[in-house]
Amino acid sequence: MDSSVVCTESFRVDGCIKSANKKSKISRDVESDIESLYRAVPQLAKTFRIIDKIGEGTFSSVYLGEARMRDGSRDVFALKHLIPTSHPTRIAAELQCLTVVGGRENVMGVEYCFRKEDHVVIVMPYMEHQAIIDIISSLSFEEVRLYIYHLLKALRHIHQFGIIHRDIKPNNFLYNRKAKTFALVDFGLAQGTADTQLELLKDLMGIRKAPRPVFSERNLNNCTLAPSITKLANTSELVNTGKPTDLSNGRSASARRGPATARTPKPQQTVHQPLTCTCFHTDRVCNVCLARKQQVAPRAGTPGFRAPEVLTKCPHQGTAIDVWSAGVILLSLLSGRYPFFKASDDLIALAQIMTIRGSRETVRAAKAFGKAVLCSRQLPRLDLRELCETLRGQRPSPDDEVTPVRHSLGAKSLEETPRPAQERGKAGAGETPSPLPKSQAETPGEKASSGVDCTGTGDERGWDGVPDEAYDLLDRLLDLNPTSRITAAQALQHPLFKDLEKST
Ligand code: ADP
Ligand code: MG
Ligand code: ZN
Repeated sequence: MDSSVVCTESFRVDGCIKSANKKSKISRDVESDIESLYRAVPQLAKTFRIIDKIGEGTFSSVYLGEARMRDGSRDVFALKHLIPTSHPTRIAAELQCLTVVGGRENVMGVEYCFRKEDHVVIVMPYMEHQAIIDIISSLSFEEVRLYIYHLLKALRHIHQFGIIHRDIKPNNFLYNRKAKTFALVDFGLAQGTADTQLELLKDLMGIRKAPRPVFSERNLNNCTLAPSITKLANTSELVNTGKPTDLSNGRSASARRGPATARTPKPQQTVHQPLTCTCFHTDRVCNVCLARKQQVAPRAGTPGFRAPEVLTKCPHQGTAIDVWSAGVILLSLLSGRYPFFKASDDLIALAQIMTIRGSRETVRAAKAFGKAVLCSRQLPRLDLRELCETLRGQRPSPDDEVTPVRHSLGAKSLEETPRPAQERGKAGAGETPSPLPKSQAETPGEKASSGVDCTGTGDERGWDGVPDEAYDLLDRLLDLNPTSRITAAQALQHPLFKDLEKST
């Protein structure tokens, strides 16, 4: 890779802290990972004592490291080791995002970067943080309001630079509860807007080929909607369009998040195409539709946080997709359910969105950005306050006046509901998306991650006095139509944040 974009030997720290002088309680696996990292990037050992592994994904591992500074003090850092198969431009773009916009406005900064051959380690200040899943049931409304405010601030900032983060979710927005500090991390999926100020994000748009197909991104990248098709269709009729793989993300969301949609493509075959579609408004998929070319559109992130325009592969995606994800986070925090939408693929995710935001509304919005979505059953749009209060256990369930809400609405997330039909993937049209799943009762003794609190301490945490503004903002963030969706800058001006915006 081009070493000019990655600074290799810029140390502000000194000292020679050797590893493995203290053996703590870390596992053998982590120990051997740390040793391999020292071996891959030996210059790290001159500066850091790597203490533990603090994060692991498909595309990186993050370690906690300690360094002795010139003045003799010790400082802790997060060392993000990117997988060596990442595209050089992808790596450089992640680094450029951190260096250009990081270190202010709730965006994580970068301190150093090390490289040896294709191993790159990005060194950031370490920020202690709590996982949302661990604290969601104890959050006060005021904390939730602050959290979203600070997330929107980070978004306004990066969007000003033409950066679309594409993977906004609590794991990528660090929150230190005690210090009340926040930091947006992980620009590993970021892309530029048409007018982005970041050169490398522009370059990313040109990347269409994987440099080293060590794991097959092509296979993993193509099949968002495919599983639903193969279920009903005779697979031998499937046409492999052999389209160029869209690697503008550098890594595919499905590759990141495990096997959910991974599938080996069938060998290339051609079908003789009849001229017109015969499946419109039926519950099957005709050969014409099966043979349609899949739309190439960026698809990044985690299904449950993806905006409708991402789920339907709309080719024009902008900063509004991050705003949607912020809306999903707010919905999650207001309802006390994390993750809120838990979907293994995009059609299930879309069905879950319809369940909350209404099927007619979703179909209409999709039409506005050029996508045909079919849904076999009409699902009403839900009132957001009613929904959140019901899930929090502050209201009786609409389905059942007797059973406490938390037992009838499912313990944690909106679990998988049947899929809607979309464009060529009409396989789900025979199934019916159901409203909130009934009777997914917790097993006795299982701790719900919801904020349900029967003892009434909800009052202290402000949950009995959530202002209408909160639900109004939620409604604007979860606008199904990206062109009318509120922007991060506008959201910060929302009445919910009246007191906060003045003071900054
Ligand atoms: P990935 O691309 O693998 O998701 P991230 O950049 O999101 O990598 O980092 C993974 C995890 O590592 C984060 O969710 C967070 O828990 C931790 N992490 C990342 N950067 C920092 C940091 N600067 N300080 C503390 N923890 C961090
Ligand atoms: Mg991440
Ligand atoms: Zn058809």
